[in-house]
Amino acid sequence: MSIKVENISKKYENGVEVLKNIHLEAKKGEFIVLVGPSGCGKSTLLKIIAGLEKSDSGRIFINDIDITEKKPSERGIGMVFQNYALYPHLSVFENLSFPLKIKKENRYSINDKVKNIAKILELEHLLDRKPKELSGGQRQRVALGRALIKSPQLFLFDEPLSNLDAKLRNQTRDEIVNIHKRIGISSVYVTHDQIEAMTMADKIAVMNDGKILQFDSPYNIYNNPANIFVAEFIGSPKINIIDCVAENGVIKNNDGIKFGIRNIKNGEYLLAVRPEDLRVSELGGINVFLTKKEFYGDEWIFFCNFGKQKIKFKSKDDIIVEGNQLNLTIEKFLLYERNGELLT
Ligand code: ADP
Repeated sequence: MSIKVENISKKYENGVEVLKNIHLEAKKGEFIVLVGPSGCGKSTLLKIIAGLEKSDSGRIFINDIDITEKKPSERGIGMVFQNYALYPHLSVFENLSFPLKIKKENRYSINDKVKNIAKILELEHLLDRKPKELSGGQRQRVALGRALIKSPQLFLFDEPLSNLDAKLRNQTRDEIVNIHKRIGISSVYVTHDQIEAMTMADKIAVMNDGKILQFDSPYNIYNNPANIFVAEFIGSPKINIIDCVAENGVIKNNDGIKFGIRNIKNGEYLLAVRPEDLRVSELGGINVFLTKKEFYGDEWIFFCNFGKQKIKFKSKDDIIVEGNQLNLTIEKFLLYERNGELLT
């Protein structure tokens, strides 16, 4: 099963241009994550794929078949939402079998399918319970099961973990990834959480303001962000952005402090360096003023001033410096045009 989204645009009646010419493609079995700040259009795109919302233009294909005009129920899609909306008065068995009853499947077939899904999701011992007798994670598994039981060609997830506490969120995240690996249904997963995006996705689409800014593997999104927005959105603490100029191949700041060498046109640029790519150095580098440090157990994060700019770096070791002055060397950096696009 593959999915292709082509030229999707959407404006709401209040004039909000929520999606601007979206392209997206997932191959068979791929797990795609849409990530971006609240309000960037992720849920709207998911609803358009599901057929719950109409786009103004563009087409959607599942297995190269155009489904743009099809009703939601004809698209072969299973959806899992943030609010799992189980029927409170029905048992797990009845909740799971509900979609098949609507399709008027016979009792024996329903029984077989519920048993099979309950086995995959390890719900066999919970079939008689009501939703209120389940933990959050178990409820989410039932919601997954109810979507799975219809044998969908495509799974859509809309922030399915955001109602769970931290421990359960990690556990359910692992479960979704494992289930996906086992059954291999292509999936589109919406979240605003960069950790979910990085750990779950085969490919991440970073969205902002109705556009996909980069659609790439987690590795490339982190190591080669296509623009400053993506660079700053993924990674914690945030990547450092420093004003710089290039003069005859030397990258430096306005005070002449040298950052490195690149064969690029003379001009003004933005230099981006991850907090883990700065090292304390006895010799040379950039001179910064330490303003604050935070201890995270396995590492420290140091906050510094570099002229008028703020810089953060990470270290496994505490750093004690006299007068709070220290030198940092930049081990790796990316350069961006002043308009935010990666310099290639
Ligand atoms: P996200 O899922 O990324 O948080 P949404 O797709 O829910 O974003 O919303 C994108 C933008 O569209 C927001 O500015 C939101 O206020 C607006 N919006 C969403 N639904 C509607 C609607 N039914 N009518 C008008 N505006 C809407």
